[in-house]
Amino acid sequence: MALAKKLQEIGESRNNNTCYYIKMYNSLSKEDQEALDDAWAKKYSANEILMALRAEGIKSSNEAIRRHRIGACGCQEKK
Ligand SMILES: [Zn+2]
Repeated sequence: MALAKKLQEIGESRNNNTCYYIKMYNSLSKEDQEALDDAWAKKYSANEILMALRAEGIKSSNEAIRRHRIGACGCQEKK
């Protein structure tokens, strides 16, 4: 039982690690998440969003955003 639970935790953290964008997204406040969702909805470019994130001291990268947006990160999050 304990081993199964541990393996599940490891599997989950591995999945989380594959998507740096979602990791960053989940670390944001509810307010910032909404602002980000809104920016995508308004068709802001990844570059513009990255600039805004960096201006706020939030670490992300073009590559992480790009991979997530084209679905190459492997996560199932649609954000
Ligand atoms: Zn992703």
